[in-house]
Amino acid sequence: MEFQFYMPTRVITGEDCIRKNKDAFRALGKKALIVTGARSAKVNGSEKDVTEALKLADIEYEIFDRVMSNPTIACVYEGAAAARDAGADFVIAIGGGSPMDAGKAIALLAAQDISEDDLFKGQYENKILPMAFVPTTAGTGSEVTPYSILTNDKAQTKTSIATPLLFPSLAFLDGRYTKDLGITTTINTAIDALSHGIEGMISVKANPVSDVLAKESIRQIGECFNALKKGSLTAAHREQLLYASMLAGVVIAHTGTTAVHSMGYSLTYFMDIDHGRANGLLLAEFMKFTAAGRPDVIESIITAMGYKKLEELEKDLEELLGAKEGVTAEEIARYSSIAIKAKNIGNCPVVPEEKDLVKIYTESFKLSV
Ligand code: NAP
Ligand code: ZN
Repeated sequence: MEFQFYMPTRVITGEDCIRKNKDAFRALGKKALIVTGARSAKVNGSEKDVTEALKLADIEYEIFDRVMSNPTIACVYEGAAAARDAGADFVIAIGGGSPMDAGKAIALLAAQDISEDDLFKGQYENKILPMAFVPTTAGTGSEVTPYSILTNDKAQTKTSIATPLLFPSLAFLDGRYTKDLGITTTINTAIDALSHGIEGMISVKANPVSDVLAKESIRQIGECFNALKKGSLTAAHREQLLYASMLAGVVIAHTGTTAVHSMGYSLTYFMDIDHGRANGLLLAEFMKFTAAGRPDVIESIITAMGYKKLEELEKDLEELLGAKEGVTAEEIARYSSIAIKAKNIGNCPVVPEEKDLVKIYTESFKLSV
């Protein structure tokens, strides 16, 4: 058995974990740039907990709260300039995947000059500002992954900066911040985490440790399905989803994602469909496609979730996602031609051709081929 496992992020969990561990920030630097979205971190208490902890630890900070959903390249260059102007020597990102991914790119761009043309090329100097992350959705798992996913207008999709430099030093998981997350975003982000676990098991890069974590993550998310359907999540469910999302993040840090994510990026880029929902719409059809060549993998996913048949998962996903958007055959052809060029297509054990992507999109939106 040959594999490697690497997870350099120190994960600290539990109620009030930021204040209780405020001294952990001291190891990162003397002045922080807090990277966050426009509103939610101010409402859910996470920003206040961070700033109070910094004050108690005698650490200065400035706030960059201009990160939008699906952050743009312009936004991260603006954030990097803000970090340099502030003289920040570390970054704290608070929010969903968007502020966390922006925080990673900002930490990289504040420490070294990289042109836009070179941003996704993977050749970087060994320099980055240290990072501490506070996820407030559950989620992307970005707090434990080496990826920053940005809206790439040149390629008309979303593209990853991928380098181990992007692993944050610290991640604080406090489920209280997700308490008032609306049910639609809660469902979409939970399905994103589920998709990470499932795609991680399907990926050709899966290893024995990532499989253990993925099975546990998808089992725990499956346990929350009824509460998600009823919109009746308790604080314990919220904590469970945040934990499962982190596990799934550790999984994709090793395995990458597959065609589901590549295809979902087009739905987000062109149709503004939330990232997790985009994955959820495509997941069951991609699993059917994979089952034709690797029925064993799909069976172990279904079993880990407590189902007997893939159709049971498909039905639950349909119930959670509700009415689907309309997509034309022309749009599907365009999205397929973009998605087939993505790197993570190569992680699929049954490698799809462009016509297979057309079929998966078509079946997912229940159009006749
Ligand atoms: P998001 O875009 O970060 O946030 C979605 C919305 O939820 C925003 O309006 C945000 O408001 C709000 N929000 C966040 N936390 C909240 C809370 N606790 N209570 C109430 N509202 C809250 O959504 P996301 O699904 O978490 O992240 C999606 C992004 O992550 C995509 O760009 C995707 O590509 C990326 N992603 C990255 C990885 C990775 O490994 N790096 C993996 C998967 C996905 P504010 O703007 O006011 O904060
Ligand atoms: Zn994702």
